[in-house]
Amino acid sequence: MQKALIYCRVSSEDQKKNGHGLESQESRCRKYAKEKKYVVEEVFSDQAVSGGLFERKAMQELLGYLKWHKQEHFVIIFDDLKRFARDVEIHIKLRRLIQTYNTTVECLNFTFENSPEGRFIEVVIAAQGQLEREQNQRQVIQKMTVRMEKGYWCFQPPAGYHYKKCKVHGKLISPKSKEVTIIKQALEGFAHGRLLNQKQVVAFLAKKGYRGGKPIHLSTAKAMLQQSLYAGYYEYPKWNIAWRKAKHKAIISLSVYMRIQERLSEKMIVTKKSDTPDFPLRGLASCCYCGKLFTSSYSRGRNRYYPLYSCNDKNCTAKPKYIAKEKLEMDYIDLLDTCKIQPNCAYVLKGMLIGSYKKQIDEISDDRIDIQTKKEALEKQIETLTDRISKTSDEFLIVNYEKKINQLYGKLKELEKPTQTKEINIDIGTATQKTIELLENPAIYWKEADLQRKKLLHHIAFSSALPYGKNEGFGTVRKTVLFSLKEQQDRGKSYLVRYLRKNWNQILKEIQNIQWFFKCQKSLS
Ligand SMILES: [Zn+2]
Repeated sequence: MQKALIYCRVSSEDQKKNGHGLESQESRCRKYAKEKKYVVEEVFSDQAVSGGLFERKAMQELLGYLKWHKQEHFVIIFDDLKRFARDVEIHIKLRRLIQTYNTTVECLNFTFENSPEGRFIEVVIAAQGQLEREQNQRQVIQKMTVRMEKGYWCFQPPAGYHYKKCKVHGKLISPKSKEVTIIKQALEGFAHGRLLNQKQVVAFLAKKGYRGGKPIHLSTAKAMLQQSLYAGYYEYPKWNIAWRKAKHKAIISLSVYMRIQERLSEKMIVTKKSDTPDFPLRGLASCCYCGKLFTSSYSRGRNRYYPLYSCNDKNCTAKPKYIAKEKLEMDYIDLLDTCKIQPNCAYVLKGMLIGSYKKQIDEISDDRIDIQTKKEALEKQIETLTDRISKTSDEFLIVNYEKKINQLYGKLKELEKPTQTKEINIDIGTATQKTIELLENPAIYWKEADLQRKKLLHHIAFSSALPYGKNEGFGTVRKTVLFSLKEQQDRGKSYLVRYLRKNWNQILKEIQNIQWFFKCQKSLS
């Protein structure tokens, strides 16, 4: 008696439709086997797989089975040739593979013939199957693109959301009340600085029992922080879908989202476990002989403990290798004091800052007016062309008008992209005032700051660790642009102005750090 194996496959789309289920496929194949008087030894069925050869578990099992029973001759039965493989390439590969095992392949809707013509027709049918699948896929993508353009997100919903059917909008993602409350608190906490980093976001979610207390990965938190759908916006560049407002309910405002992105891009000042408020210069000062960062310790004296910074490198030639805490910290404060800017310098900087911010704001409003005018012009052109189409029956003209209209729509869409970074409000007065205050007396701010902000202030002033020797002191150190203003000021006003102009972009960046310094202070108090 001839032995037979049956192979069935349903894709996830097939499953939704009726009549293509696994059972009906199997029973058709069994009926066929009975008619042919074959004995069915095994049935292999793949469910809801995309059709790539190596994702198909049952197909792999079938191949394994053949390998195991090399001596025997099998007939492999399946019901539809188009279902056998996803595309021509896989079809041919699979056929060759099966052929090596001394088998015959039989299909319910196709008779394989071992002739040039037979093989040709087989490939044509496989190709037709591929074409139908791809056309189908294209149609799905087109439909989804239209939805996406209208403001409906069509993919996997973000954590805390699920799809809901609604009369007005159809399928729409909507927040699940309980989960989303926790996510909202986490996002806002991070935006306002109550949660300092992504680890704290994870800890917060866990504490609140998010997902029933299942472990949360750092990448989950990061994805959450970067997810614009929470603010009710999205983009999908792969399909040419520009940034736009979505129709679903947002849980945070756009400005909160922007603030989160701003914070994610900032260099986070991490306080390590070994950091202690007793030794704020740990990690910020290094031995000028060997370049190693100073460590800190208490040394036991006759009557008390002496706090010390020291170089721990055995091969270092520095003598002595330790420096009293007070000495190093006093020198550091003196160094900060030398960076103080004078009132006349503050005046120049203030003027330029206010001018620059005003210019930015003017540019934004100019841009807006400009965009509005351009949009109106485009809309008018589109209207005229649409009008013309409706009045003509000349195919050639219609095609041409449509082409033009499409181009105009493209331009219109381009204009509708919001100018993201420019939307952030700038409080000119306070921002400038705070910046100047800090530059006029950095040492005072240093003394009053907690450990984390001390580190931040150090990076605002010097950006890297400073080499120091007991006899040499700090020597000449590299300062940031803002903290070099004092030296420029000493050279004269014209030097100062030239220096400010030349480094203006860098200055604006550094000022953002200063604003961050003050934000930290607010969130801590
Ligand atoms: Zn050293």
